[in-house]
Amino acid sequence: MKTLLAGVAAGAMIVGLSACSGGSGGSGGGDGGGDGGLIGVAMPTKSSERWIQDGDAVKSQLEDAGFTVDLQYAEDDIPTQVSQIENMITKGAKALIVASIDGTTLTSVLQDAADADIPVIAYDRLIRDTENVDYYASFDNFKVGQQQAWSMLNGLGLTELDGTPIEGAPAGPFTIELFAGSPDDNNATFFFDGAMEEIQPLIDSGVLVVGSGQTDFEQVATLRWDGEVAQSRMEDILTSTYSDGTKVNGVLSPYDGLSRGIISALTDAGYTVGAEWPTISGQDAELDSVKAINSGEQYATIFKDTRELAKVAVDMATAILNDEKPEVNNTEDYDNGSKVVPSYLLESQIVVKDNITEVLVDSGYWTEDEITG
Ligand code: BGC
Repeated sequence: MKTLLAGVAAGAMIVGLSACSGGSGGSGGGDGGGDGGLIGVAMPTKSSERWIQDGDAVKSQLEDAGFTVDLQYAEDDIPTQVSQIENMITKGAKALIVASIDGTTLTSVLQDAADADIPVIAYDRLIRDTENVDYYASFDNFKVGQQQAWSMLNGLGLTELDGTPIEGAPAGPFTIELFAGSPDDNNATFFFDGAMEEIQPLIDSGVLVVGSGQTDFEQVATLRWDGEVAQSRMEDILTSTYSDGTKVNGVLSPYDGLSRGIISALTDAGYTVGAEWPTISGQDAELDSVKAINSGEQYATIFKDTRELAKVAVDMATAILNDEKPEVNNTEDYDNGSKVVPSYLLESQIVVKDNITEVLVDSGYWTEDEITG
């Protein structure tokens, strides 16, 4: 771990900080004084509910730990995110927690952070092509992709939700379509590779057929995870491939916002729930999509508890600033092009109609009223 000038000085004071608010003179500027110092938190966009949940959780947990927080959203605009981070550095942030928009565009601003001895934690999305990222807090993203595939396969009656093949499953062929996330988000390839590990063998054996023939990541990727882009791609596919009356039986979607676009395209094309409606996957357990699972429009989503992820990132920041080693559980899988970034990966859960209450309500993530209201 690199030497942390201001961080080490401040670190000694961070333990038990809420109880000791004074006397931190000389521990680094720009923090409003008297607390654990400023932490910069850069989030990609407010257009997706999950990042709002993430930002809120990180902010409140950092504040509980005695820090001041500069939380910024960049509305998916890369230069805005770069200048927000630059600004955090100028304000004297002691650490940065960054969920990047494009994982490859922060090299220069993170060099500035390194020059100022500011540690950087990549939040959920790996920051690529720089030495200057210290830790990575995320989920097991390959597994998330497998779970997305399993949820679609479960809806088709082919596997259990844990991927176990169902005995006596239908032989198909089932017609499916594939969607992936944003090509500049490192997670998108992990999700897609995980999903294809499960789906490809079934394509090879003829149980699944990709109607459009579009199976390469480049063909199925969705820039900026934009639901409208997914909707129009689905509309194009329905026109080009399914106008003879063939039905699409399953859609692999890696994010609830894309699933909602896909659902709109299907509805506009005359599909109705209950009558050969396809099995559609998702991710993030966004409220509108949980409602769509309840109503049968979406089959499943992947729940990644943003409160838990926030806790990992906050614990990492606190440990670094205390000159301790943050806990990690993966030091192999996340090579960012410059180095393997030590990571802590959380587990995700598949949510289908039957376990909404158990997974989302009992854990306090959503209330029953929010879901049914
Ligand atoms: C996150 C997903 C999210 C997607 C779109 C990914 O990096 O891991 O949870 O659905 O971005 O916001």
